[in-house]
Amino acid sequence: MESSVAARAEDTANEPGRAMPALVAEDNPVFRSMLRSMLTRWGYEARIASNGLEAWEAMQTADAPRLAILDWMMPSMDGVEVCRRIRAAAREPYVYVLLLTARTESQDLVEGMEAGADDYLTKPFNAQELRVRLRAGRRILDLQQQLMETREALRVQATHDTLTGLLNRGRVLEVLLAEIARSHRELRPMALLMVDLDRFKHINDTYGHMAGDAVLQEAARRLRAATRQYDAPGRYGGEEFLVVLPGCAAREARAQAERIREAFAGEPFDAGGTLLAVTCSIGVSSRDVCASEDAEALVREADAALYAAKNQGRNSVEIASPEPSEESLALTKLARFSET
Ligand SMILES: [Mg+2]
Repeated sequence: MESSVAARAEDTANEPGRAMPALVAEDNPVFRSMLRSMLTRWGYEARIASNGLEAWEAMQTADAPRLAILDWMMPSMDGVEVCRRIRAAAREPYVYVLLLTARTESQDLVEGMEAGADDYLTKPFNAQELRVRLRAGRRILDLQQQLMETREALRVQATHDTLTGLLNRGRVLEVLLAEIARSHRELRPMALLMVDLDRFKHINDTYGHMAGDAVLQEAARRLRAATRQYDAPGRYGGEEFLVVLPGCAAREARAQAERIREAFAGEPFDAGGTLLAVTCSIGVSSRDVCASEDAEALVREADAALYAAKNQGRNSVEIASPEPSEESLALTKLARFSET
């Protein structure tokens, strides 16, 4: 048994790269310095606390350790309370907590585990045993990290368009609703652009779908480059894009649309080695202040303006004639009144 523990402990040899920070909270100076030197030898970056309050403070820093070794009995705050607070904060990423205890009564252990400790070790302990238990904790943390990365990848997948990396239709409409609500609440303007590539079907028919895809990707890149960081460009469908412009009234929205139009028309697109002249038409709708139910109207108006831009001969920007609701008009008056 002893030898198998020792053999497994060999796995815990220092891993290349950054040392993993680990909190050591222990009030007994002898145990504290022993733990510090062991952890350092095993390749951890030991962060030391000599009482519970210090430990809790160390866990609140931006780069707080994800591994915490907490002595149970400490002045100012005991290890179980520190553990309880870590769990109550429900921080991500997860913190793996190992309690050190001199007690052996099972009732106490139940209390410690119920406070959210992942494991415990009774003092005095065997160094190799601590080492392999920390190793087990790291495995759990690694798994948790992978889960978080997977969840993030799924979130990106669910909200972004695969081809262009822009927000997908569902997500850009959600952003539109959120920004309408904000405009309504804060009495601020907002605008919406509907951008459509001109004669895109011709590109697909003549140069093939691969070239078409390359054009869509380049269009997305230029859209992103031509918009502000807080604007939300998304792919509405096919070769049609929506751009939500928070805080933009009609005049700024028109200037923004012109910048996008020029970004497309100014330089040919590289579609897999073939240079193509690609232009877009843009319909603009806006409100000085949105009414709460404006989403549909803004999309409809931008769509009608886009249609007008196409009829103008394409490569052009058209501003919708707004049909603001009475609610929107009343809010606009209110906004102007509160400015003066
Ligand atoms: Mg103690």
